[in-house]
Amino acid sequence: MPQGSSMWKQLLKLRSTAKTFLSCKVGNGLLLDSTVAKARTSDGWIFRGARSNETELLLRHLAEIEINEDVKDTYLWARPHGDPRNQFNFAETWKLVKTHSQEVTWHHQVWFSGSIPKHSFILWLSCLDRLPTLSRLRKWGILEDDTCYLCEIYFETRDHLFLTCPYSYDLWRWGLEKLQIPFAGFNNWDRFLMWLKATSNDPKMAPLKLLLAQAVIYSLWHERNARIYTGIRTPVEALFPILDRRIRNTCLARKDIPKFQGMLNLWFRGLFL
Ligand SMILES: [Zn+2]
Repeated sequence: MPQGSSMWKQLLKLRSTAKTFLSCKVGNGLLLDSTVAKARTSDGWIFRGARSNETELLLRHLAEIEINEDVKDTYLWARPHGDPRNQFNFAETWKLVKTHSQEVTWHHQVWFSGSIPKHSFILWLSCLDRLPTLSRLRKWGILEDDTCYLCEIYFETRDHLFLTCPYSYDLWRWGLEKLQIPFAGFNNWDRFLMWLKATSNDPKMAPLKLLLAQAVIYSLWHERNARIYTGIRTPVEALFPILDRRIRNTCLARKDIPKFQGMLNLWFRGLFL
């Protein structure tokens, strides 16, 4: 296997998994190595007496199989629920083999119809605390200084960077004032998620609040990366119009989706604040 051998090796590792989905419907008992056919005569199966409960069960099962000399054995796809069948169903198999994780309580706030994928992605990694914040890099021994690049005072943990950093606080305050939502800051990620999940009297407010929150998280991560990798620093006041444009463009692009209709007006409501 000179080419693609690693791919084949990966596939071969799945043999034990695939075996659970394979079922053989015995016809004449003639397999490739004829082992089943050799194990029987016209008088029946050639077996020694059962010496264990398992063997006895096997012999009983074999005795119930009807042998038809004119029909070839066929392999079928076994299913845990329902009879085996000769057609492979990818979706059904994927459901059975995929790893099932416990459902998180915040997935509706991260992944929702109309969200911006790159914004959702950063929020998702943030919720899992998997972003390579400086404090995490320091913990891994990759660097020694984990001072936040936005405020240059505190350590850059996830909660600090996105919630409690003075720079982030100003961005949140600006955004939530535009939505006319009272803001007293977020102490930690749990409080932030509670706020994110809290319902509003205005049904249009919920998706707008989520769009804003995701855009704020994304903008902060973007600004932090720009400072680290390019040295370009954008004052938070200069980030306001950038975020404003992001929200407007998002609302405009989704104006035909019922859930998002009227959202731009809601955003403009705070235009002169
Ligand atoms: Zn900071």
